Amino acid sequence: MPPLSGFEHIVRAREPLAQHTWFRLGGAADYFAEPTSIDELSGLVKRCAELGWPVRLLGGGSNLLVRDEGVPGVVVRLSAGSFRHTTVRESRIVCGGGAKLGHAISAAVGQGLAGLETLVGIPGTVGGALHGNSGTEVGDIGPWTESATVMLRTGEIVTRQRDELRFGYRASSLDELAILEASFQLERESPEVLTKRMQRQWIIAKASQPAGELSMGCIFKNPLGATAAALIEQAGLKGSRSGQVEICGAHPNFFISGTGATSRDVLNLIELVRNQVQSRLGVTLSPQIEVW
Ligand SMILES: Cc1cc2nc3c(=O)[nH]c(=O)nc-3n(C[C@H](O)[C@H](O)[C@H](O)COP(=O)(O)OP(=O)(O)OC[C@H]3O[C@@H](n4cnc5c(N)ncnc54)[C@H](O)[C@@H]3O)c2cc1C
Repeated sequence: MPPLSGFEHIVRAREPLAQHTWFRLGGAADYFAEPTSIDELSGLVKRCAELGWPVRLLGGGSNLLVRDEGVPGVVVRLSAGSFRHTTVRESRIVCGGGAKLGHAISAAVGQGLAGLETLVGIPGTVGGALHGNSGTEVGDIGPWTESATVMLRTGEIVTRQRDELRFGYRASSLDELAILEASFQLERESPEVLTKRMQRQWIIAKASQPAGELSMGCIFKNPLGATAAALIEQAGLKGSRSGQVEICGAHPNFFISGTGATSRDVLNLIELVRNQVQSRLGVTLSPQIEVW
């Protein structure tokens, strides 16, 4: 019997992952699954546990670099409608882990609920944003989070309340297998005022990202008291390259990939930047992007 029998309708073998990530690089997943319900996901996770296969969650792929060799085991994407809902209830918004962060922000703003608009311009999903406590200079997603329902690697489902959740700079305690749903407690404000604030934030976000190029952003975390972009510039690395990948001149914490680029080029450039910033400025940069 094939190892994933019974799941054929939601699983594809040797799925190229480049098409699911912002950088459009990297190899294939052994198996790629898009479950349609929590029960299906739980069944699949339990089967993988029996087989000893790794399972990984893919959101919008905006903070991920997939190695050229690809990814063993199963990559799951919560693309079905049952994982992408966004519901506003009084001053709360409840979102599926696979919902686009941008949709959650628009729904909240449209209902006159303030808090999440500070995140406008960040690509990806609600699950991805919670996993890494995504944010901007004016705020992160963590403080607005009231609870999160997660699936453990055993397939069991648990709801974590605010007092159990920990959020730090681009990090959270939500490192369980899958964030299925989250509830955000927001503050009432006039939709007009909020819309203006969101538009202002959108302009700031877009001005801090390269336009119209195949780019990957926020490669490094900002160390305490400095920005990674300023340090890369200070170290004289703007425009440096490895193979077909180069540091963006206008936004040095972004890499731009050209035709024929590989994930190895990105990894080499990350190493080059870390070594040069360390030796020239004495600062250790940590990558923000995750490597699979
Ligand atoms: C142009 C650009 C601008 C950006 N600007 C910012 C910014 O201003 N601030 C900022 O913080 N980041 C920024 N980022 C980085 C990125 O957009 C965020 O980290 C984003 O929240 C990642 O979400 P995602 O759904 O794409 O996650 P992915 O990249 O798909 O995954 C990232 C991690 O989250 C995990 N994950 C994803 N979904 C789930 C889930 N449902 N359950 C459990 N784990 C999950 C994955 O397993 C992986 O470990 C930017 C990226 C780009 C390309």
